[in-house]
Amino acid sequence: MKYIEEINFIKKLYRNDEHVMLHAPIFMGNEKKYLDDCIDTTFVSSVGQYVDRFEKDISSYTGATRAVVCVNGTMALFMALKLCEVKPDDEIITQPLTFIATANAIAYCNAQPVFCDVDEETMGLSSRAVRKWLEENAELRADGCFDKKNGRRISAVVPMHTFGNPVKIDDFVKLCEEWKLALVEDAAESIGSFYKGRHTGTFGKVGCMSFNGNKTITCGGGGMVLFMDSELGEKAKHLTTQAKIPHRWEFRHDAIGYNLRMPNVNAALGCAQLECIDKILANKRETAMAYREYFSNSKEIKYFDEPKDCKSNFWFNSILLPNKKAQQEFLEETNDNGVQTRPIWELMNRLPMYKNCQCDDLKNAIMFADRVVNIPSGYRK
Ligand SMILES: *Cc1c(COP(=O)(O)O)cnc(C)c1O
Repeated sequence: MKYIEEINFIKKLYRNDEHVMLHAPIFMGNEKKYLDDCIDTTFVSSVGQYVDRFEKDISSYTGATRAVVCVNGTMALFMALKLCEVKPDDEIITQPLTFIATANAIAYCNAQPVFCDVDEETMGLSSRAVRKWLEENAELRADGCFDKKNGRRISAVVPMHTFGNPVKIDDFVKLCEEWKLALVEDAAESIGSFYKGRHTGTFGKVGCMSFNGNKTITCGGGGMVLFMDSELGEKAKHLTTQAKIPHRWEFRHDAIGYNLRMPNVNAALGCAQLECIDKILANKRETAMAYREYFSNSKEIKYFDEPKDCKSNFWFNSILLPNKKAQQEFLEETNDNGVQTRPIWELMNRLPMYKNCQCDDLKNAIMFADRVVNIPSGYRK
């Protein structure tokens, strides 16, 4: 076996000889207590103190003016685009190297994704690539930004903080101002990740988080929409709760709203998890440092390190194999021998639903797709 040393290192790191998982939730705080409380009080559904508290706790942790719970991260992205007035046939610029939810949320709005390359240092959307694509393809008019080739409106840019590594988000803030585009951050993977001291998801018009079971902290399932503009936040709350006009007994609605509420039981789990986030992040950072050190001695494998000017949550650690063949070999050997690993996602533009979308050369995205493997990154007991 070619990668037996790496396999043994990971097993030793996790003190587990049988099966090291890629990631698993960790419960060490008030999770059971808060869940019991939901059951004892009968508040298990979409109303309850934990829903309000989770929103307040996330907004104070991230520095967002307003945080609104959502049923999951995918729907949080969909809501974010709706709140940015994305219309059918609009073009939305994002990265091809992401989890499917980013592209699907665009498709739910009947808009068209445009895939621009990722940055070599962050694995997230490259502002340089987006700027180049806009300069070649777009024109600025009094009423917004338009694709010169087909006349479509370009309404938003959606960078994703890949594996918790923040993109160079201040470049996007500038670029979106210049080109009159809404900035939506897919911060689904980046709770606990900061760019120049500020939490990811609070730079754009809207930020989206996920609390799925495989994320840094979990609600079982859940999401959050982050805002610096409190008015837009209130609009999000209204739209995600069936656009019901608050009243003690009347059922009146003033728009076509959605039922995207997070049940109190899920929020209870989230509150308990967030109380432990510093401990979880410190533990993940230690693991990352162990990998950094170990792979610094490898001739063949490169550890993908924290980009500069930021603090990563090290949600998933990534290594780069020299080429596709080595990537496949590494995946096979590790998964056959009790160490769960996986390749980075298939590029969106290679999937049947998105194969006709516009792209640039995607040089870095293709390089990462051929070489990246995620290695076990969960909490080490
Ligand atoms: C997890 C994730 C989401 C949202 O996921 P949900 O499972 O719907 O909560 C969105 N975008 C990215 C990049 C993700 O990793």
